[in-house]
Amino acid sequence: MNVRDSEHMIAELNKKEPYELTEKIDDADLIIINTCSVREKPVSKLFSEIGMFKKYKKNGAKIGVTGCTASHLGKDIIKRAPVVDFVLGARNVSKITQVLDKKHAVEIATDYDESTYMFGDYRSNSLKAMINISIGCDKQCSFCIVPVTRGEEISIPSNLIIQEIQKAVDAGAKEVTLLGQNVNNYGRRFSTQVDGAQNFTELLRAVSEVEGLERIRFTSPHPLHMDDEFLQEFANNPKVCKQIHVPLQSGSTRLLKEMKRGYPKEWFLNRCQKIKELVPEATISTDIIVGFPGESDEDFADTMDVLEKVRFDALFSFKYSPRPHTAAATFENQVDNETASKRLQTLQARHREIQNENMQAKVGKVYKVLFEELKSEGRVAGRSDDGTLVMVKGSEELLGKIVDVKITFANITQLTGELA
Ligand code: SF4
Repeated sequence: MNVRDSEHMIAELNKKEPYELTEKIDDADLIIINTCSVREKPVSKLFSEIGMFKKYKKNGAKIGVTGCTASHLGKDIIKRAPVVDFVLGARNVSKITQVLDKKHAVEIATDYDESTYMFGDYRSNSLKAMINISIGCDKQCSFCIVPVTRGEEISIPSNLIIQEIQKAVDAGAKEVTLLGQNVNNYGRRFSTQVDGAQNFTELLRAVSEVEGLERIRFTSPHPLHMDDEFLQEFANNPKVCKQIHVPLQSGSTRLLKEMKRGYPKEWFLNRCQKIKELVPEATISTDIIVGFPGESDEDFADTMDVLEKVRFDALFSFKYSPRPHTAAATFENQVDNETASKRLQTLQARHREIQNENMQAKVGKVYKVLFEELKSEGRVAGRSDDGTLVMVKGSEELLGKIVDVKITFANITQLTGELA
């Protein structure tokens, strides 16, 4: 989401005057720190980064802070670091050219109108385009700050989405990733009544009709909205890549209730089981929080039980970190750091074993790979349909092509193969 917001800002800046990205901080006329606030660590890094950039910035260069931390800290950022010229919230990135010349401008409202999601063209990857389909989130997961920073959930009308995708495909994109905080809840609310796709399954069908588009991915879906119709579409639509993120957060039904996730452990297991039945080759990734307030040994054992049963291909796991403006930050029974650290180690160690076994099981199989980057020693890198990194010997002729590759070797993070 933030990568796409950065692209939006570059596109808007380019409408005003041509900007060029630079790798050298002391060449920059404008430094934008696009922030996340989902955990505490990136927030604490912000002020040390501002200090570092201040030291190196050339005379007259401006510094802006954008994104979710900008949304929730607002003008406090400027109070604490007056060197910052402007603050722009996650939902306001389209206003970048309006704040550029106003000293200490702060725009953090979370209102919505369609014009705030119509941008100029800029894509950092011409083969793979990210496309926003909804913004904000109406869920109130008790640990999550996103509804505060990105505002209420609004779906973008499908005709605008298809237009964006068509533009990207005409410019060479083969793959799109549909983006939404709660992506498969698409259609919950439009700003006005619209024709076209009314839910995520219908949107997947409409997007797959775009001529020239070969692959569709999406992130991040919510397990609660994974109904059978959606899973059938995921399984049977040949353009939809067989990679799915199913964020668990905790395996304990009791804690899931405290987290306000809206599903019990059994529903989560049932959905993963269904995915495996329909698409045995699909990769499943997840998010897990350990040390959520009140997490007991039994609760954690439930999480480990789900890990064993689903055998995730990828895991994003963190110790719980209390976020401002969230219900869980006020819960009394916070888990001590040592216990949470131990649980995280246990979880990650077992996951690494499973991940390695999953990767080894791919050796000897054939995957369709979209090649996208030249690497050293005459190798080319790409992603298989299931989202795994694959390397082969080859040249630039492979770039932008989808080719069958037979896997000859696997380690925990990548596969090596030869053209089949
Ligand atoms: S679904 Fe829950 S975790 Fe995901 S963005 Fe919304 S509130 Fe946050």
